[in-house]
Amino acid sequence: MIIAALLGNPNSGKTTVFNRLTGSSQRVGNWPGVTIERKTGRLRDAEDISIVDLPGTYSLSPYSPEEVITRDYLIEERPDVVINIVDASNPERNLYLTTQILETGIPVVVLLNMTDIAESRGIGIDEEKLSAALGCAVIPACATKDEGLDGLADAVRAAVGGTPRPMRFSAAAETAIAAIADDVVGDRGPSTRWYAVKLLERDPVVSAAYADDRSRFEPLIAAFEAAGGDSGDSLVAEERYGAIGALMAEVLTVTADDRGTVSDRIDRVLTNKWLGLPIFAGIMFVTYYIAMTSIGAQMTDWVNDVFFGEWVLPGARSGMIALDVDPLLIGLVVDGMLTGVGAVLGFLPQVLVLFVLLTILEDCGYMARICFIMDRVFRRFNLSGKSFIPLLVGTGCGVPGIMSSRTIENESDRKLTAMTVTFMPCAAKLPIIALIAGALFGGSAFIALFCYFLGIAAVLVSGIILKKWRTFAGTASIFIMELPPYHMPKPIDVAKTTFDRGWAFVRKAGTFIMLACVAIWALSSFDIRLAPVDDIDASMLAVIGQAVTGVFVPLGWGGDWEFTVATITGLLAKENIVGTFGVLFGLDSEAGLWTAVGSSLGVLGGLSFLAFNMVCAPCFAAIGAIRRELGTWKATGFAVAYQCLLAYAIALMVYRFGELLLYGTFGVWTVMAAAAAVLMAYLLIAADPFRWVGRGVGREAAA
Ligand code: GDP
Ligand code: MG
Repeated sequence: MIIAALLGNPNSGKTTVFNRLTGSSQRVGNWPGVTIERKTGRLRDAEDISIVDLPGTYSLSPYSPEEVITRDYLIEERPDVVINIVDASNPERNLYLTTQILETGIPVVVLLNMTDIAESRGIGIDEEKLSAALGCAVIPACATKDEGLDGLADAVRAAVGGTPRPMRFSAAAETAIAAIADDVVGDRGPSTRWYAVKLLERDPVVSAAYADDRSRFEPLIAAFEAAGGDSGDSLVAEERYGAIGALMAEVLTVTADDRGTVSDRIDRVLTNKWLGLPIFAGIMFVTYYIAMTSIGAQMTDWVNDVFFGEWVLPGARSGMIALDVDPLLIGLVVDGMLTGVGAVLGFLPQVLVLFVLLTILEDCGYMARICFIMDRVFRRFNLSGKSFIPLLVGTGCGVPGIMSSRTIENESDRKLTAMTVTFMPCAAKLPIIALIAGALFGGSAFIALFCYFLGIAAVLVSGIILKKWRTFAGTASIFIMELPPYHMPKPIDVAKTTFDRGWAFVRKAGTFIMLACVAIWALSSFDIRLAPVDDIDASMLAVIGQAVTGVFVPLGWGGDWEFTVATITGLLAKENIVGTFGVLFGLDSEAGLWTAVGSSLGVLGGLSFLAFNMVCAPCFAAIGAIRRELGTWKATGFAVAYQCLLAYAIALMVYRFGELLLYGTFGVWTVMAAAAAVLMAYLLIAADPFRWVGRGVGREAAA
């Protein structure tokens, strides 16, 4: 049995190649001791070859746990052959890894993937010359089109047992490498050279392994560094890139310059360093304006006021009265089911319009640009731009958003993303946003924009703070993405996606939300002795609500237990918040839902309620998804506690600082809000704030 390891840069296509090669014979496990996937499988048409998909890496000097796995596997378990996937559209960066793999002494087959992208950019690579220069087989391929993979099995078999030819460095470097190999490394078989080069590069792991011999290799490295005038790792990296550059001059043919395409010209504006973010904010504003304020709002008003308020509810009531149905049953159907579901479904037009617009933005290629723009922002805070893709998915629904955090290879980034995705306003939160905006802010689209950017800000703030907590520490994974050319979205695709998402919203309202509304209706119609109540404040629900509502008094909306109850039902599904309002305040009443909610909350209470419900613990479905990504209930508990705490702090600041600014009110809770702000600022600014609780990142990482 030949063991072949797939190795390459992140996003070079390893997983795609792996899936194509192995078909259904895959086995997925975990690498020992970590929750990182380990995939193995047999080659589909060659039973004698077994394949391992290694975590992507840019170098064999690892930073992240994933990269450590890759390197340890290569050096300690030594596969028979490495299939090195090289992205042909980005050869320089990819070959940097190749130069290091060749040093391990393991035979290499280079799979030159993404030749389609390279071709479309006018990049041609002469694979025969490349093969001659590297001293190994080079196979051009396009994994997504299943091209070029047929020859791989034969190339792998031919490579077994061979000796790779690592690149030659400058005379000075070669002298140092030879001396280190002879005096320090000794005989490590085919990977002797790899150890010697790693020592010269001052690789921390290899240096630590040879700590006892430090007195012998230190002078050799010092002499090399003194001659080159730089650190060992910089000098070696420079030589690697120098050699790759020379190689490129030989094998690369760039036939067309693609800088002049329409897409590129658009991108020069849309992804501009200064204009990119303001344009993004502007586009999101227009999106929300159309959905929440203009077209969407008019349709929602009609569905709420006319369709449900004038037709469905009175119709159902009078119909059932005419049929002499028991009043209790009429209450259950009309005041519980129909009112609750109606309140939620009333927002369907706005949700649909928003879905159409977001799908168009996605399909035309703009959202990929947003990831690119946000990567610049995120990177400044040592966060990966990869985290932004789950956030975009999360604006539809948090559950797939959390699941898509799996594409992030770096474990700590992945966990961080999984626990912050739900800060984004998902479709289920949209009705609350629209309700509060309509009830208190004249339907302003700025409220939705506020929620959207509050979500992004909460993710950023959490990322910056939690990265200082030891569990999440580490360098952000590098994010390189291809920007697909812009194109007109196909109406049929947009319609299909919108329909799927909209239908999911309706189905949930008609099943799950309906049940919850019936429960709310029942709890609000009877008292503890199960006797029907006239005054809702005497109901079982009021008793429950009043028991906990005090917690939210500092946030400005704890005075009315209805809002506390709504927040709690939001844990089942965020649509329930509006459904609960519907049941408790009524939909067909003269005053209307909007007036009732608006007058009880007030402007600041409304903002605070909104901020809390955007950021606090998500619905149970999302909590379950977080549990799957984080691995343990303990970590999930930590995540949920963190979300609630952050939500409380934000809502407290919104309400109390707002009160101070608008009315000059000052009190104990203003001081508490200020304390929360100071604490947050400290956690954001201090290099190692968690050292006081013994969970710091340590002085080195902090510096
Ligand atoms: P990994 O990170 O190395 O496992 O890379 P993936 O297999 O996840 O691939 C990253 C992205 O590149 C995916 O969107 C693939 O569909 C895409 N991809 C992989 N191979 C090719 C290819 O040959 N051509 C093109 N155009 N895309 C590819
Ligand atoms: Mg992969």
